[in-house]
Amino acid sequence: MTITTKGRTGRIAVYEQANAPFRIREYPLREPEPGEVLVRIRMSTICRSDIHSYQGHRPNPCPGVLGHEIIGVIEALGAGVHQDMRGDPLAPGDRITWSEYFIPGRNYFTEVLDLPQKSPGVDKYGHMAAANLPHHHGGFGEYCYILPQSWILRLPEDLSDEEATPINCGVATMIAVTEVANIRMGQTVLVQGLGLLGLYGAAIAKARGARTVIGLDTVAERRERAHRFGVDLVLDPASIEQAELLHQVREVCRPAGADVVIEVCGVAEVIAQGIEMLRVGGTYVLAGVVNPGALVTIDANLLLRKLLTLRGVHNYHPRNLVEALDFVVANRRRFPFHDLVDGKYPLDRVNDAMADAGTRRVLRAAIVP
Ligand SMILES: [Zn+2]
Repeated sequence: MTITTKGRTGRIAVYEQANAPFRIREYPLREPEPGEVLVRIRMSTICRSDIHSYQGHRPNPCPGVLGHEIIGVIEALGAGVHQDMRGDPLAPGDRITWSEYFIPGRNYFTEVLDLPQKSPGVDKYGHMAAANLPHHHGGFGEYCYILPQSWILRLPEDLSDEEATPINCGVATMIAVTEVANIRMGQTVLVQGLGLLGLYGAAIAKARGARTVIGLDTVAERRERAHRFGVDLVLDPASIEQAELLHQVREVCRPAGADVVIEVCGVAEVIAQGIEMLRVGGTYVLAGVVNPGALVTIDANLLLRKLLTLRGVHNYHPRNLVEALDFVVANRRRFPFHDLVDGKYPLDRVNDAMADAGTRRVLRAAIVP
């Protein structure tokens, strides 16, 4: 450990309350404590959940720091940190990704239930008040402390920052979603919502052996882009009558409907439609309805009669982070992941970045400090 931080500060974009403009503040840096890693941020992409938090749709302490899809370069290692979760050695200068959350030590959820991502007291980067020490714990800034009980992975050199940054949220989440969906060779998968999660989901479904992926989205631009990420057929649920939509899906998913339906659009009303499109014995996975109050009316008799499996995914298991990195490395020539990050902004322009991401002018806005 070297004294690298004495008297130094780092800039962070802080917002006072929901929808208030970000202001750049300086906070002191300190040496990383045992188990911590101090990282100089290379890129942080704006996730839909950052926008939900910023707009006040879900509770987030203020004045707050946002940003959890982050990659960075190791500035200093705290005592006891020598290698990443795969056992690869870590050293200052290494470019890394890490889990979007950290857990408060050993607990029942981790050790008995194998659900560390839902441990009581689990906290996320970019979800804490700016006043919380060590201040630098979000992506919209120059530095971030990776706290103990996080999972770190060193990034291969040939992976671009654009390919690497969404791995620890968007990609890992869809690895978890497609894992619980249990997608098998030759199956048909229907994806409701062709934003970033939907596109990764389609690509991963194909990599897991899906025969056909159908994508539903009301935005023409998203439907056009989807073909490059493994979606074979796109449909606009707003312009096709429900019975006709169901007919078209059945024609592709012969004889009885889709094996798997994945919700990543965040609109609870689509759940009933998704259940209709499933075959007997199919699986429905919810991953987009992340805000409380997503009330919906469904015919529970359909769940019973069609022998359906209904699964929810929130956060992901640490193993999914390893799989996410390996998936992107193995498939970066097959799918143009680099192009998904289509807007880059310096830290001073974080307000423009949030505005463009919020109005969907860009698919994934990146803050490059
Ligand atoms: Zn996210």
